[in-house]
Amino acid sequence: MGMKYRRYLAGERVYGCATCRTHLATIHSMISRAFNGQHGRAYLFDGVVNIVEGEPNDRQMTTGKHTVRDIYCVKCGATLGWKYDRAYEGSQKYKEGKFILERNLLVDVQ
Ligand SMILES: [Zn+2]
Repeated sequence: MGMKYRRYLAGERVYGCATCRTHLATIHSMISRAFNGQHGRAYLFDGVVNIVEGEPNDRQMTTGKHTVRDIYCVKCGATLGWKYDRAYEGSQKYKEGKFILERNLLVDVQ
């Protein structure tokens, strides 16, 4: 699943890995800023590039049970957040296939 090459994003605002500045997502793919990660505030994105996805795990969250995969930077291997594979609560289905990036693990690269 991991990509061997890195993609470069362009736009008015690009978020990158705080460790190695690899491009990850743009403001245009951001759905919400109102999420909590494991290290504080987190953002929900429609699409993220230059990541490796881990194995699926069931996780109990404040919003119910979800199947998620941790996501890692393709260059430096830093954990960045997770991807939602499945939400068990109907009201949370919109998160399926979407990505959480932790704000503290991001830098503005552009
Ligand atoms: Zn990195």
